[in-house]
Amino acid sequence: MTALIQSSTSTFKRLFSYLKPYRTGFIVAVLGMIGYASVDVFFLSEFDQFIDRGITQRDMSYLAMAPFFVVLLFLLRGVFHFTASYCLNWAGTHIVKDLRQQLFSHMIALPVSYHDKHSTGEMISRITYDAEQIKQASSKALVVLIHEGAFVIGLLGLMFYNSWQLAAIFLLIAPIIAVIVSAVSKRFRQISNNMQGAMGEVTGSAEQMLNGHKVILAFGGKEIENQRFMAINNKNRRLDVKLESTRAMSVSLIQFIASFALAFVIYLASFPEMLDSLTPGKFTEIITSMMLLLKPLKQLTTVNSDFQKGMAAAATVFSVLDENTEQDHGTIELPRIQGDIEFKQLTFTYPGHDKQVLTDINFSVKAGQTVALVGKSGSGKTTISSLLPRFYEIEQGEILLDGINTKDCTLASLRKQIAVVSQQVVLFNDSIANNISYGFEGELSAERLLDVAEKAHVMEFAAQMPLGLDTQIGENGVTLSGGQRQRIAIARALLRQSPILVLDEATSALDTESERKIQAALDELLKNRTNLVIAHRLSTIEQADLILVMEQGRIIERGNHQELLAQNGAYANLYRLQFGEGIGEGIGESFSGSAGESA
Ligand code: ADP
Ligand code: MG
Repeated sequence: MTALIQSSTSTFKRLFSYLKPYRTGFIVAVLGMIGYASVDVFFLSEFDQFIDRGITQRDMSYLAMAPFFVVLLFLLRGVFHFTASYCLNWAGTHIVKDLRQQLFSHMIALPVSYHDKHSTGEMISRITYDAEQIKQASSKALVVLIHEGAFVIGLLGLMFYNSWQLAAIFLLIAPIIAVIVSAVSKRFRQISNNMQGAMGEVTGSAEQMLNGHKVILAFGGKEIENQRFMAINNKNRRLDVKLESTRAMSVSLIQFIASFALAFVIYLASFPEMLDSLTPGKFTEIITSMMLLLKPLKQLTTVNSDFQKGMAAAATVFSVLDENTEQDHGTIELPRIQGDIEFKQLTFTYPGHDKQVLTDINFSVKAGQTVALVGKSGSGKTTISSLLPRFYEIEQGEILLDGINTKDCTLASLRKQIAVVSQQVVLFNDSIANNISYGFEGELSAERLLDVAEKAHVMEFAAQMPLGLDTQIGENGVTLSGGQRQRIAIARALLRQSPILVLDEATSALDTESERKIQAALDELLKNRTNLVIAHRLSTIEQADLILVMEQGRIIERGNHQELLAQNGAYANLYRLQFGEGIGEGIGESFSGSAGESA
């Protein structure tokens, strides 16, 4: 309990610190709220005068003033209310905007290993749902909290002024109410926490359905997905009901307890001594104050759940913000390197996993050479290529570029050296031109763009589109074929002109027809670079300066094509299996030809 309160106060403090740039607005808002509440209390404090002077004593001049007085007060009240709401909303929305922006930037900067562990749906719901909850808490909930809080204090003050003995009774129940409120707050928090999780599942499930729409249709998974979503959806609803019922229950309970105080006051007021000391106006005022106290009590409890929701969301958002971003302790700003690559005694395990994925990887390539990684799927080829741009931290062993340990380089300058084309091409919802020039620094001339587009054979299909390179390609390039997407990725890599190129199964998703088409594009790309090529076309592997055969995270054979075939080991086997039989004459010939040569 104390831990919870402590953590909630520190969350609140931290959230509050976001207010700093907007504190003027906030202060105006608080003053406005207090003014608004004061008008109400003042209005009430005139009750006794109205009854005792106006009605009992028939003071006509007082009664004549009253209507003007009412209108004026309500005008003042309206101004206060508007100013306060506006300013608080202004500050609240700014806070949420800042938090959201920070969250977005932080998520980009989080290491790949963090993204591996957290679903996209969960992350999206942090930015959308959680941030929205914080907004509710920091605008709507705060409005009520401050206004009603000031009103309660004003009413209590008025009661004390009128008769401190009677008012004191009301204060007696305050501790009981405090206990209930804190217990209820705790429950609100817990439910809100679960609701955030459930919301993440809702987003996640929806995201999975939208991404896998075609697969779902093809495999008749409609029912399964509907069922899955229904369960998650209903869980969310149940939590909502839980929250609402807790809220309603606590409101009723608190009001019920307050009614005891009210009853007790009425009872006491009926004593002759009391009746003597109170005028009818004062008595009405006290009873009215007490009645009026019930409404803010209800609102404060109600809004408490919104507030707790916001605090729970803030705690989660802060926990994401507290995750360490990618470690970038390197100080060396790599200039454009020659392209020598050396892996030294590299052993790697994915963070949070037990299985050692790479063991004792040693190899080196000179600038301009091509190294090919072959091996069964799951043998660690992609892992090697992800370690090059330091997508994961290397604990054991090192990778040197031009003799410099990649650990000592800044991430930005390191990644500038490497272009990756993989099987999964990621395209942005933008034009072809902008997809090609994505991440390009400096001025890009139209000729240069056209040149890479030609070389990557993008123009072949872009020229036939109505807007050419300016054609929009839709989300992740849905309007394009696999080969077309691949060619855009190649153009992007070409433009980058990085000294190192990683091709990770870049053409494995393509049919022979498309593959032949992008063949020329790839050859263009491989020129003048150090290439790390994974499970690729036979001709590329054959021409590689070094072939590494991987098995369960180890290099089990190394050499060039001829040497490896001559060894007649794993490579020769793999080669026969993958390329040897029934793939077409060209490859069959090349296989027997090379085998013949080396024999
Ligand atoms: P390949 O590219 O040769 O098919 P990978 O390098 O992708 O193989 O995978 C090597 C091993 O590492 C596999 O056993 C795989 O399950 C595991 N692995 C791959 N990616 C991750 C990851 N992000 N987190 C944990 N384990 C992974
Ligand atoms: Mg792979």
